[in-house]
Amino acid sequence: MSKFWSPFVKDLVPYVPGEQPKLSRLVKLNTNENPYGPSPKAIAAMQAELSDSLRLYPDPNGERLKRAVAEHYGVRPEQVFVGNGSDEVLAHAFHGLFQHGKPLLFPDVTYSFYPVYCGLYGIEYEAIALDDNFQVDVADYARPNGGIVFPNPNAPTGCLLGLEAIERLLQANPDSVVLVDEAYIDFGGESAIALVDRYPNLLVSQTLSKSRSLAGLRVGLAVGHPDLIEALERIKNSFNSYPLDRIAIAGAAAAFEDREYFEQTCRQVIASREDLIASMQKLGFEVLPSAANFIFARHPQRDGRQLAEQLREQGVIVRHFKLPRVDQFLRITIGTPEQNQALLQAL
Ligand SMILES: *Cc1c(COP(=O)(O)O)cnc(C)c1O
Repeated sequence: MSKFWSPFVKDLVPYVPGEQPKLSRLVKLNTNENPYGPSPKAIAAMQAELSDSLRLYPDPNGERLKRAVAEHYGVRPEQVFVGNGSDEVLAHAFHGLFQHGKPLLFPDVTYSFYPVYCGLYGIEYEAIALDDNFQVDVADYARPNGGIVFPNPNAPTGCLLGLEAIERLLQANPDSVVLVDEAYIDFGGESAIALVDRYPNLLVSQTLSKSRSLAGLRVGLAVGHPDLIEALERIKNSFNSYPLDRIAIAGAAAAFEDREYFEQTCRQVIASREDLIASMQKLGFEVLPSAANFIFARHPQRDGRQLAEQLREQGVIVRHFKLPRVDQFLRITIGTPEQNQALLQAL
């Protein structure tokens, strides 16, 4: 702490990202990266950007990427916002859409960045308990609120909420924005983007970090009514006009255009997930149903934190959260079949 800090900085509680180890031999199953590389077409598009043109600023609106996303989802480019990772997109949404003097609602077990943004922007919140099976029950959200946010599938549980339930939530809250964080939707769910034309209070965010294997590039997006998008554009243009560089715009657009590679790698991750769940169950683990590229599992006779430590000693890193209700669980990213085998061997 220092006298030079703005007073509120003293009370900020920042997000703690999963470890990025320096040792490359480790089987890294802790931050939900994709085990397969990005689309070769995305890599070629990025290489083509490495030229003299880098002396020029990028397109501040990322039009090329907005068009690719709009095309992929059958929406209009003015319904699309793009940013430097979906974390940045979420931050702008919290800043621009959730400051209404009423509590923001989100699940008690969820993405731990949400309370951090509330702290940053002075937003009051209520954490709504998941049910005993770690599922969201939308009936629990029938209370006064200044907005609702949840990941779908949820993180770190991997559990999916169906589109009918999301529609019930949208209909019950016509005066609040419902933000659906679809970081993992491509691994087993149906995107709520299908509903944006019917619900002006729906904003859907996505990332290229997971299903499109571009965590290192930092690109995220949101889709919703143009009025919601305009709020995000105003925040963005009051903060950083160029959140996406030339390489990111080119690579992300090409990744969206290569539907075939995307679908194939998602299918491989899903097949590996089902194999891993079956093998973990044979070892006595209880595994929550997952629609994501990770599983959330606990063993009735083994302590979660100890398991994570012992796995690390054997060169396998998974994520353990020292949090109420879930401190016996391990969150394990789906790796290649070889990586998953190394995990099972270590267990
Ligand atoms: C990974 C993740 C994000 C962040 O994605 P970036 O685009 O890499 O910032 C957002 N929400 C959830 C739930 C995530 O797991």
